[in-house]
Amino acid sequence: MAEQVAGKGGGKETAKEGQLTEITPQSEDFSRWYLDVVRRAELADYTPVKGCMAIRPYGYAIWELIQQALDRRFKATGHVNAYFPLFIPEKLLMREAEHVEGFSPQVAWVTKGGDEELEERLAIRPTSEAIIGTLYSKWIKSWRDLPVLINQWANVVRWEKVTRPFLRTTEFLWQEGHTAHETEGEAQEETMRILAIYKDFAETELAMPVVDGQKSESEKFAGASRTYSIEALMGDGRALQAGTSHNLGQNFAKAFEIQFQGRDKALQFAWTTSWGVSTRLIGGVIMTHGDDRGLILPPRVAPFQVVIVPISRGNWQETVLPRAREIQDDLVRAGVRVKLDDSEANTPGWKFAEWEMRGAPLRLEIGPKDIEKSQVLLARRDTREKLPTAMEGLADAVVRLLAEIQQSLYDRALKFREEHTQRVSTYDEFKQVMEGRPGFVIAHWCGSADCEAQIKSETQATLRNIPFNKGDVTLVFTGPCVKCGKEGSEAWFAKAY
Ligand SMILES: [Zn+2]
Repeated sequence: MAEQVAGKGGGKETAKEGQLTEITPQSEDFSRWYLDVVRRAELADYTPVKGCMAIRPYGYAIWELIQQALDRRFKATGHVNAYFPLFIPEKLLMREAEHVEGFSPQVAWVTKGGDEELEERLAIRPTSEAIIGTLYSKWIKSWRDLPVLINQWANVVRWEKVTRPFLRTTEFLWQEGHTAHETEGEAQEETMRILAIYKDFAETELAMPVVDGQKSESEKFAGASRTYSIEALMGDGRALQAGTSHNLGQNFAKAFEIQFQGRDKALQFAWTTSWGVSTRLIGGVIMTHGDDRGLILPPRVAPFQVVIVPISRGNWQETVLPRAREIQDDLVRAGVRVKLDDSEANTPGWKFAEWEMRGAPLRLEIGPKDIEKSQVLLARRDTREKLPTAMEGLADAVVRLLAEIQQSLYDRALKFREEHTQRVSTYDEFKQVMEGRPGFVIAHWCGSADCEAQIKSETQATLRNIPFNKGDVTLVFTGPCVKCGKEGSEAWFAKAY
């Protein structure tokens, strides 16, 4: 990858309680901090394949929790999972003109099978509208076949020049939903239903507040009629597009001949949508919550919500360890994801620092003195408070505390966003804000692509999205465009990943 990480100082990793030497402070270099956390917390690693990362077990466990939480929501709203080919014949990809134009610079091609040149090149899917649309044209014949509500969990490839683990890699994991509907209204309803699911998921599971709204014409998905997004603010004040939902109108239905006989017996084109989120969300979690000590995981997506560290003194294996195991069993029975770190290779102090760096929401310390007092020590990762807690009713106390941590991480992130969001009315103010402390800027915009492009080239800020207005209109003119002074609607801007 472009930003390679070498061990700082290159020496043996040393850690004493509460302080790990290997993580660059956020204030010194946020980007470096991010890469240090990814590597030290063992979330992902570089590979011999340029731009492609290996997701390590701890990182993959977070992805599995994300998958489960989303999959539940998709299924509860009537969606089913299926799988489509990785390869897309060139001719199919070429069918939707805007789609091709948008994606062609990033497509990887297979030209040979074994020793033989292929008659037709095969694209490695950058997204699956083309292949899925082709199948839908076979499957959908009548209005009775609609709606089709399918989701796919898969990998995709987009050839990237500059990459960063989780945020932008050549190959990444995602889900892509592809639906077909009888009417324009139903397709729009579906597009908004998914956006609402994404927002609820991001805020409830990832404790990551997001702004939902519509993308401008220049930022919409290649081939879509309308694109909507959720946008989060990272710890360095830059925005992250965390999910998108597209109303594709009849554009893809026309290109791929998805036609059905309507209730009036007339042949008509279906209305389709597509929507996706990716492993990029893990990058979002890291940059929303992390601090100079490393990762902070919201309990709902933490592979280990509680890490038990027995204090290894005296004959701890006969006294402390059995009690620690009982506690582990109790917590598991209460539905808590627990790790008992009973390895003899490391000291308790090393383990404290290690699990703090790896973002475990709660650490549970137990030693001989605690057993005498019939208590344990709980340490919160988010506030670093240490809470002596009675063994009696411990599981309930832990469950309550995890919920409290989840909420407090959300509150903290929301407060940060509010403190880093400014409303401006003049272009001078806009530029000043962009040069100073980064964050979201809310400004009026007239809807012109020229104004948007000039703002971007002069300030590096992109239009993230346009908040929802009452009714079905995108722009509601409430003030002068910050760039040209014509009537404009409010929009959110930021420098973005
Ligand atoms: Zn303007």
